[in-house]
Amino acid sequence: MPAQAAAPVRELTVGLSGQGRPIIANQFGDGPHKLVVVSNTHGGPEQNTYWLALQLIEHFRANPKQVPPSIRLYIIPTLNPDGLALNTRFDASGVDLNRNMNTNLDACPENDWSITVNGARGIVSDTGGSFPESQIESQLIRDFLLDASGAIFLHSNAGLVFPALCDHAPSIQMAQVYAEAAGYLYNRFWPNYLITGGMHDWAASLGIAAITPELLTAGDSEFAQNLAGIQAVLAQPEALLPLPEDQVVGDIVVPALIWRYWRAHGGEAVFGLPLQPAQPTTTGLAQTFTRARLELQPDLADTSFLIQPAMLGVANVQARSYGGDDTVFMPADSSTAPLFFASTGHSLREAFLNYWQRHGGLKVFGYPLSEEFTATTADGQRRIVQYFERAVFAYYLDDGSVRPEPLGWQSLLREGVDAHWLAPQVR
Ligand SMILES: [Zn+2]
Repeated sequence: MPAQAAAPVRELTVGLSGQGRPIIANQFGDGPHKLVVVSNTHGGPEQNTYWLALQLIEHFRANPKQVPPSIRLYIIPTLNPDGLALNTRFDASGVDLNRNMNTNLDACPENDWSITVNGARGIVSDTGGSFPESQIESQLIRDFLLDASGAIFLHSNAGLVFPALCDHAPSIQMAQVYAEAAGYLYNRFWPNYLITGGMHDWAASLGIAAITPELLTAGDSEFAQNLAGIQAVLAQPEALLPLPEDQVVGDIVVPALIWRYWRAHGGEAVFGLPLQPAQPTTTGLAQTFTRARLELQPDLADTSFLIQPAMLGVANVQARSYGGDDTVFMPADSSTAPLFFASTGHSLREAFLNYWQRHGGLKVFGYPLSEEFTATTADGQRRIVQYFERAVFAYYLDDGSVRPEPLGWQSLLREGVDAHWLAPQVR
């Protein structure tokens, strides 16, 4: 009989890479402070970070009690298994995953996402991706870190540790602690060039303590140094690994994880503003925003579905809220559609396709449930619209924009929440 119960150890699949290789996370412990070690984002040329992660996993498997009870530690040995297999820094479609994140959310404009990036040795190339978080691996790490307190992004090779570019005290402190314990230099910034779309900057903008240790060499795993760095972080969870914090938007409290999802997926423009405090549901929490209702299901932690917009579009199809004659619900011609879904028989094209892809696609909006058609929208104008499972898109001819209709606001009205109070909230 063990003297002390060992911390839970398990292996889970975060998702599949662009070429279908599994991205694996190994979990040690189940405390509230989630620390994620993300290794080998840069594939083949930085494969020593992959070997390092495998050694770390072996170490914590043998010594699970070294993870304090307040922490759950995850180690992802490679976020870029395609780049590792193909021996390239990039993912399978030639994108630099550490330049592909939406870093436009922080207060530092100089690190904003750009398709043109500085890469290894300062080589300039158009490898930032076609839009922020265009790549499946970027989307998977965005989802997996949603409830994280800290993130350590292992790279090589420079022999230094740096935190997020924008001032974030826990990130700066974590970088200093890690550098000192590992025997690497601490640098406030990556000294060689400006990194745009970097994972550390994206993470810190959501309140996650985020650092990038660069191993000294490209060939050794430098296991002892990095184990010491990680152990120094594990020893100070309260200072270095802040729990996600609730935020106030307008004058309404938004629970921490719902806020992070809202912020990371487009904020007010995509979901609108919160209309009421979060409400308990049978599976967790839900909060209604002007354009969506965001549902938190704690049972789905560590999956891409911890937070999801409710199926408000389905209810609108059932009620035919926007009308639409039967033809718009008939299966589309798959041969002419740029993107066609056999499961619902409907297609996406042009402006709606572009908006859907750039703002989270299937996970955020669901499948299309109709073709495009003309209807009267909530603002009383005739516009081109389309039903989706979790939204209704409307096309604004005047500025060429796409905006999701205010389905959250409408659903509160239907549920009998005081319309007089809600009216001024709609914009
Ligand atoms: Zn790297």
